[in-house]
Amino acid sequence: MSRVYNFSAGPAVLPEEVLKEAADEMLNYKGTGMSVMEMSHRSKAYQQIIDEAEQDLRDLLNIPDNYKVLFLQGGASLQFAMIPMNLMKNGVADYIVTGQWAKKAYQEACIYGKANAIASSADKTFSYIPDCSDLPISEDADYVYICENNTIYGTKFKTLPNTKGKTLVADVSSCFLSEPMDVEKYGVIYGGVQKNIGPAGVVIAIIREDLITEDTLPGTPTMMKYKIHADNGSLYNTPPAYGIYICGKVFKWLKKMGGLSVMKERNEAKAKILYDFLDQSELFKGTVRKEDRSLMNIPFITGDADLDAKFVKEAKAAGLENLKGHRSVGGMRASIYNAMPIEGVQALVDFMKKFEEENK
Ligand SMILES: *Cc1c(COP(=O)(O)O)cnc(C)c1O
Repeated sequence: MSRVYNFSAGPAVLPEEVLKEAADEMLNYKGTGMSVMEMSHRSKAYQQIIDEAEQDLRDLLNIPDNYKVLFLQGGASLQFAMIPMNLMKNGVADYIVTGQWAKKAYQEACIYGKANAIASSADKTFSYIPDCSDLPISEDADYVYICENNTIYGTKFKTLPNTKGKTLVADVSSCFLSEPMDVEKYGVIYGGVQKNIGPAGVVIAIIREDLITEDTLPGTPTMMKYKIHADNGSLYNTPPAYGIYICGKVFKWLKKMGGLSVMKERNEAKAKILYDFLDQSELFKGTVRKEDRSLMNIPFITGDADLDAKFVKEAKAAGLENLKGHRSVGGMRASIYNAMPIEGVQALVDFMKKFEEENK
């Protein structure tokens, strides 16, 4: 069976080249006589895998030396707790609530301290990014939190909030490595890799060193302290070893593609094909305010739930998979991460044209 175009929001499409390489190395990784899955995480071969993965990520994002790169577990959702546990020195943090993931992070932080929702776009079903140029940032806030790309709603911060000097913490799960970032503008950048980088089970956190201290909230489990992972090079306990290995391969693929500026251009070209179609279609329409549109997750509707369902079903039969919108919003959503080829987006738009013709 041939591969489909997979528009899943996550776990999501990976570069075919990477999957093939991993398949080739499955039984015998570089003459070790074993799979990476079977290998001690204390072995020389594995140390090289994780070291190279970190270095390649540093190269891709230009990560300054005073930032640690941690490979962690527990999904992006565990960071919703780890962030307040490690960063809430004053017990106060400000959250910008632009969707379900930001809301969950905010709710989790409320368990550990005084979390303030200082802005929200809930009034219009999270279809836009609020103006964050002059927010009521708390004087004693330990950090300001954003979800930079809202996977479910398809919005993206095009300008970072004015945090008035406070540390910025960002969940970049669904836009990780989709374009260059200025790491120095952030205190913490983190994301689950299953959206745009690798297999579920790995979370990458890039943290400015001064934020990694012994001074965590009382009762913080050892495994949830950034410092323990930083001091042990992400090898305090057994890491998600195979997942990190695949991430490393994706980093090498990204470097080979030309790096993140090239990926950004590619992603813009891909998204334009779909957005341009949506903007002139008489049947389909995008749900997000134009200036806040994500390059990665593109939700759209026909306005008729039955027709939406018909579309999703017929698209699947045509080899275009996972186009159903998130269960909380309905409609459709095309996630077009780094590994989605431009041909996949073109095939989707061709199919949408045909569907529109047949259903007007
Ligand atoms: C998917 C997603 C999450 C949750 O990730 P898990 O790894 O399942 O915990 C959090 N934030 C964003 C932006 C996401 O897209």
